[in-house]
Amino acid sequence: EPYLEMKGVQKSFAGVKVLKGVDFSLLSGEVHALVGQNGAGKSTLMKVLGGIYPKDGGRIRVRGKERAIVSPRVAASLGIGIIHQELNLVPQLTVAENLFLGREHIIDGWPVIRWRRMREEASSLLERIGVNINPARRVEELSVGQQQLVEIAKVLSMKAEILVLDEPTAALTHRETKTLFETIRSLKSQGTGIVYISHRMEEIFRISDRITVLRDGEIVSTRKTVETDMDELVRMMVGRKIKECFP
Ligand code: ADP
Ligand code: MG
Ligand code: MG
Repeated sequence: EPYLEMKGVQKSFAGVKVLKGVDFSLLSGEVHALVGQNGAGKSTLMKVLGGIYPKDGGRIRVRGKERAIVSPRVAASLGIGIIHQELNLVPQLTVAENLFLGREHIIDGWPVIRWRRMREEASSLLERIGVNINPARRVEELSVGQQQLVEIAKVLSMKAEILVLDEPTAALTHRETKTLFETIRSLKSQGTGIVYISHRMEEIFRISDRITVLRDGEIVSTRKTVETDMDELVRMMVGRKIKECFP
């Protein structure tokens, strides 16, 4: 049984259909790549899943049960963690404060911020993903790549069973990307299902088990990565038939 099953999901903005009945599923321990050209609707689909946008139609099942994901809080409570394309950190706060923003209680069960414990907890979280950032630094002092890693640490701390990474490597260095991939493999081995959105073909083929192509708000194909040919994938993304590419 899939962790996640989205069926016939529809979404319009100002009368324009951006998702035209999309099916998407995610298994335990699976890395499922979601690919498509800019504007295909990838982020919108994940924002519907994350409770940021209400859907206009369709169903979402989480661990076999139909759910109304009406807010990000509900999504989080269902074990859905999303790292959005746009960063969602508070630049003026420290790394540690950002990591536990609104969830200070998880530190020791009290709504009191225990600074030392919070920094220790933040350090160990960052260590888990192999990054060396002082949790006392303000987010605005970090590189975009480092900020992205802080977001990843934040979602990891939520112990998500369904993790969505929306173009996570856009601002990462080669080394940071390598570390992220190690984290993904380790989460996968613990049973976390991961949706991986990227334009980078080499990353998709390296990390994913399954690939879904979204084009103009519709699913074009879902298949195993080992059964997918890279040139064909690119053709499916841009929507040209083989005949038109090789007349
Ligand atoms: P992708 O992530 O695949 O690049 P998006 O989901 O970001 O695509 O966008 C799909 C389409 O929906 C685009 O045409 C985009 O302009 C439109 N869109 C996305 N979010 C909004 C919004 N909040 N309001 C209006 N249009 C939106
Ligand atoms: Mg885009
Ligand atoms: Mg996007």
